[in-house]
Amino acid sequence: MTSTQTTYQLTRSIPAEAPYDLVVAGGGPAGTAAAVCAARRGLKVLLAEATGCLGGMGTSGLVSSFGPVSDGERMLVGGFMKELLQTMWEREAFAPQVTQDFLHRQLNRWVPFKPEHLKRILDEFVVQAGVDLRFFTRVVEADLGQGRINGVVLSNVEGLRYVPARTFIDATGDAALAALAGVPCKVVLRDTDTVSPSTLCSLLAGMDWQDPAYGSDWRGIDEVKAKVKNQWVPQAIEEGFFTQDDRFFPGMNRIGDNGATLNAGHVFNLNPLSVRSLSDGMVFGRKLALEYAEFYRKYVPGCADLELLTTAPVMGVRDSRRIVGEFELNIEDFRAKRQFPDQIAVYNRPTDVHPTDTSKAEFDRFMKDFHGKDNLGRGDCVGIPYSILVPRGSHNLWVAGRCHSSDTKVHGSIRAQSAAYMMGQAVGTAAAQSIATGQPACDLDTAVLVQQLRADGAYLPQEGLSSRMTRA
Ligand SMILES: Cc1cc2nc3c(=O)[nH]c(=O)nc-3n(C[C@H](O)[C@H](O)[C@H](O)COP(=O)(O)OP(=O)(O)OC[C@H]3O[C@@H](n4cnc5c(N)ncnc54)[C@H](O)[C@@H]3O)c2cc1C
Repeated sequence: MTSTQTTYQLTRSIPAEAPYDLVVAGGGPAGTAAAVCAARRGLKVLLAEATGCLGGMGTSGLVSSFGPVSDGERMLVGGFMKELLQTMWEREAFAPQVTQDFLHRQLNRWVPFKPEHLKRILDEFVVQAGVDLRFFTRVVEADLGQGRINGVVLSNVEGLRYVPARTFIDATGDAALAALAGVPCKVVLRDTDTVSPSTLCSLLAGMDWQDPAYGSDWRGIDEVKAKVKNQWVPQAIEEGFFTQDDRFFPGMNRIGDNGATLNAGHVFNLNPLSVRSLSDGMVFGRKLALEYAEFYRKYVPGCADLELLTTAPVMGVRDSRRIVGEFELNIEDFRAKRQFPDQIAVYNRPTDVHPTDTSKAEFDRFMKDFHGKDNLGRGDCVGIPYSILVPRGSHNLWVAGRCHSSDTKVHGSIRAQSAAYMMGQAVGTAAAQSIATGQPACDLDTAVLVQQLRADGAYLPQEGLSSRMTRA
């Protein structure tokens, strides 16, 4: 290569595999649910996951807490997500403070779990469903023709492989496959929008959860969390303890007898679609994690012997690329608690768009949004329509999870893992319907889809159904 050369044309033959009905890119919450639900409907499914485990942010990212699963009165999650919760309950995969009541009736409670248990349960689900699971495998190219994706190129230790398929689901969080396929996307960066910063989460041991400050159930833990935010963080900032004076972080999740995960330390202005920025962010995130461990040891009860065991191997990216979908769910829909004929899930979680810098103005903006009147109350929910999972005009590609089509505020709510699992079930089921009927993703009979999801346990309270999806 000469010094003036800016591109290199790669032309080579690579092995091609036998065709699949469905290729799912990404084995996080959305992709795992999609692959399992499609395979259970009889599809031959390949699930390509870049890391060595399923669960995405919930496992690799050490984000060991499901966003709310109830509206304070009813369980809002059904189908695959409910089955997962029940299995986790039976296998003691939740943190010790989680009770049945906590799951069913605590409005806007986050549900902490043990990541290693989740990994193993998802492995079992995928293997039992007969999914062809490929770890350490990335989708790196899309083969397009006649308005469809015909196949993808996978990259792993064996080299490059071409895999043809009839349908595709992008559950990469970053809309990686959609972008490769030329789907119009919104790239969400600080200079174009209010965008939640990233966080490198960590795993801690040596917590004394028996310290009287924590009481006997989750209420005591909540009280300490509130004091961390309102008392000890401001005090530490006042005393010049931190490298960056960040007033907000979600804090510690108890996940075991003396263990915890920590969601603390914002990496501001990180561009999740730049490998240089991600690399710099990992280096900075590891420094911050050490500092937060030291903060807890110094200021917080029960933490004197706390040890930082490890940081996550992947950056905790809250937002990066979202598709331009057949419909964009927006804050007006959210405020109106809008229900849709084609909704594939309902949800209730605050609009959680983290402060974009360390300023008081951003902290105040976050607090106002998070606790403000926009948010849904007890017994409320907003619908998640099918059409936010369909790239505009798409024939055989769906997305699920973080890269769906919503505005920034709504994204701050429905990017949660529990919602991602439900979106995954919906698109896995949609792919099966599409293959069975020949209906393209953008013209699927959504009344049939909703009835199938209900039959498979989804909680979908809308009264009227429509065979056509909601569009703008
Ligand atoms: C710091 C932080 C804290 C959070 N806190 C909470 C919380 O408390 N509760 C909650 O419910 N949610 C929380 N969230 C949000 C939630 O974790 C994510 O939005 C959710 O996991 C999204 O699910 P997903 O399946 O879309 O993506 P992910 O969980 O990101 O999974 C995507 C998967 O795709 C894989 N992948 C990516 N690219 C490729 C490729 N090209 N080929 C193959 N595989 C690929 C990745 O390795 C990953 O496993 C938090 C997020 C962050 C970052």
